[in-house]
Amino acid sequence: MGIFTELSRHQYGQVHFCRDAASGLEAIVAIHDTTLGPSLGGCRFLRYEREEDAVTDALRLARGMTYKAAITGLAHGGGKSVIIRPKGDFDRAALFSAFGTFVESLGGRYITAEDSGTSVEDMEVVRQRTRHVTGVKLENGGGGDPSPFTALGVRRGIEAAVKHQLKRDSLEGLHIAIQGVGHVGYYLAKELHALGARLTVADIESTRTDRVRDEFGAKVISGQDILATECDVLAPCALGAILDDISIAALRTTIIAGASNNQLAEPRHGDELHKRGIAYAPDYAINAGGLVNVAAEQAAGGYDGVASRARVLGIYDTILTILDRSTATNVPAHVVSDRMAEEALTAARAR
Ligand code: NAD
Repeated sequence: MGIFTELSRHQYGQVHFCRDAASGLEAIVAIHDTTLGPSLGGCRFLRYEREEDAVTDALRLARGMTYKAAITGLAHGGGKSVIIRPKGDFDRAALFSAFGTFVESLGGRYITAEDSGTSVEDMEVVRQRTRHVTGVKLENGGGGDPSPFTALGVRRGIEAAVKHQLKRDSLEGLHIAIQGVGHVGYYLAKELHALGARLTVADIESTRTDRVRDEFGAKVISGQDILATECDVLAPCALGAILDDISIAALRTTIIAGASNNQLAEPRHGDELHKRGIAYAPDYAINAGGLVNVAAEQAAGGYDGVASRARVLGIYDTILTILDRSTATNVPAHVVSDRMAEEALTAARAR
């Protein structure tokens, strides 16, 4: 892999590598852009077949965080980190402690949080080594698990998409299909059920669908069928790259609004949704609630859950603006969203 070729392709930025022999840590911190403020983004802890895959993951994800913070109006840049999961035995606490030392060495240019494979407990270990960490426990001044805030933002984004597409102010009686009822999907089902929506859900883990069926009366169907379910809103909350040539041809909804990152297999699939008249709430704009909440932990006056919640509610306005502009200008929603984020960055650079 030509590392500098990759960096210029994604308009970077900085990438930092750390190897700690004692703990076995092999970690990457990618800082895409700090125009709006210190970079903020989660830490992934996954197994990677090849080192290049870990680098590509960090680069791609950090760039997405720049756009997510910019579209949401947060004073943060885009960063992301990856810890390559060791193949053999390892001491998890020692690994995250060494990672905390690595983050501290960057002097606040990167602030970490949880992401796939990491938890609040891991961030508590990181906190022993650096204050540039978010997503820690409430009793330690943090905002805890960001998933309920992500779900709240997605619910608000669904309400905006429904307003735009169906001209309705309420979700009462609407049929919403959720792919994946894990951390975010569960809380989203709870939010939607409370507003009178009818739910159909799918997950590969039956314990997760059982819970949503028992608590919210959701109908459970197989994972393969959920994307082609006839519904008012499809909310992908499991995997990335689920909107491709095959799934789009089978869609029986006019609104896609869910938490998953990188839902479009390729940008041209966003164009295809637009051509078909499907309102697509761009993933990084609708799923920013968790980021808003972890960013609130860095506020000068300390974390304020009420203020954070109020800010997450504003995702309604962001999604409605994107979709209305998309229709008015006949430009796909994912392109409108990118342009709005780039405008915010350009304005900040000019200042
Ligand atoms: P999670 O791992 O807790 O939940 C994902 C769920 O999807 C799991 O229950 C899993 O069993 C299920 N799943 C996996 N493959 C599936 C398939 N083929 N069909 C149906 N279900 C399947 O993850 P999460 O934290 O809830 O995040 C969900 C998505 O939202 C991810 O793409 C994540 O990147 C994105 N996201 C999460 C947050 C957050 O605050 N957690 C913030 C922004 C974006």
